[in-house]
Amino acid sequence: MKGNATPDPQSGGCLCGKTRYTLTTAPEYAIRCYCRDCQHISGGGHAPQVAFKRGGFACSGPLKTYGLKSAAGNDVEVGFCFECGSPIRKTTSLQPGIVYVLAGSLDNSGELVIGN
Ligand SMILES: [Zn+2]
Ligand SMILES: [Zn+2]
Repeated sequence: MKGNATPDPQSGGCLCGKTRYTLTTAPEYAIRCYCRDCQHISGGGHAPQVAFKRGGFACSGPLKTYGLKSAAGNDVEVGFCFECGSPIRKTTSLQPGIVYVLAGSLDNSGELVIGN
């Protein structure tokens, strides 16, 4: 379920524009996740997301976080814009060095190609 994300995205944000982030590293990989958590997060059948090194992700704005236990027992934290509710990013205790950015929030999401 891994693919390549091209070209390298550099920034993104939420629907209302109050929550913004920048990315200073190239994407590690991209996935479409079909788990129930991601269906709820995205409101769709799956959540396309791009993995970055956590240190390369810097977010500003009214981010609201929600913590949950995944079906596999990992601690997952999801960040939404407090103002408009757009899903922004996801982290999991399974991969402490990685942040998953919801692909639809990337500024160049229209150019993004996420493989299956
Ligand atoms: Zn917002
Ligand atoms: Zn998932």
